[in-house]
Amino acid sequence: ASFGFRDVDVDAKQGMVNDVFHKVASRYDLMNDLMSAGLHRIWKDAMVSWLTPPRNRPFEVLDVAGGTGDVSFRIVERSQKSATATVCDINGSMLEVGRERAQKRGLADHVSFVEGNAEELPFESNRFDAYTIAFGIRNVPRIDQALKEAYRVLKPGGRFLCLEFSDVDVPGLDKVYNFYSFNVIPAMGKAVAGDSESYRYLVESIRRFPHQERFAEMIRQAGFTKVSYRNLTGGIAAIHSGWKI
Ligand code: SAM
Repeated sequence: ASFGFRDVDVDAKQGMVNDVFHKVASRYDLMNDLMSAGLHRIWKDAMVSWLTPPRNRPFEVLDVAGGTGDVSFRIVERSQKSATATVCDINGSMLEVGRERAQKRGLADHVSFVEGNAEELPFESNRFDAYTIAFGIRNVPRIDQALKEAYRVLKPGGRFLCLEFSDVDVPGLDKVYNFYSFNVIPAMGKAVAGDSESYRYLVESIRRFPHQERFAEMIRQAGFTKVSYRNLTGGIAAIHSGWKI
């Protein structure tokens, strides 16, 4: 089935993305575990470990498209509660799930939740020590605009980290991954969330996202330096890193 995300204008695209996440918010965490067979946990751990939030001083992180809080919780826990995190997401339903989870984990004093758009962040310039975005940037219609905003809100010396699906670079794994993406994922989406279309969108958006080198170039274009990346699980996902000097 074709799915009309390719040709729609940016506002329409954001509207469709919002519908998807309103629909899946309550089952989002379960679906993540099922569909990635738990791998998303390892990838998020890898991102937070590359960030290495300090344990002995305040450290303010902005977690954009932070959804239900996974990355923020890991950062605060790893810093032994030295760090504070702000989850910023365009979708109130995802944030609501996140707030409840923060309460349950006893992290509500360290993680705040703010509704906002990655393309126009509701924060002053030069404020944060780090900016993280996990599985979020490919949903944003104007990626260059989101990267500019990331640069703006970081302090000089601040760190940008992005975890995103990427291009598989292992022969053989690409075939398995294609089959999994186009057949297994939509079927699972239908079985668990009653919705295969949303998950077809997910797969299509992954295909269309720029590969590792090109995305690194886009990050440099936004002003970041020392840009580098690490592949995870043969390139199924990648973490990009950059610094605002
Ligand atoms: N970072 C979380 C994680 O890794 O579990 C959530 C990732 S989820 C796949 C993508 C999130 O991006 C959704 O919560 C969605 O609402 C958010 N999003 C989409 N477009 C956005 C935008 N323009 N600004 C901020 N958040 C956005």
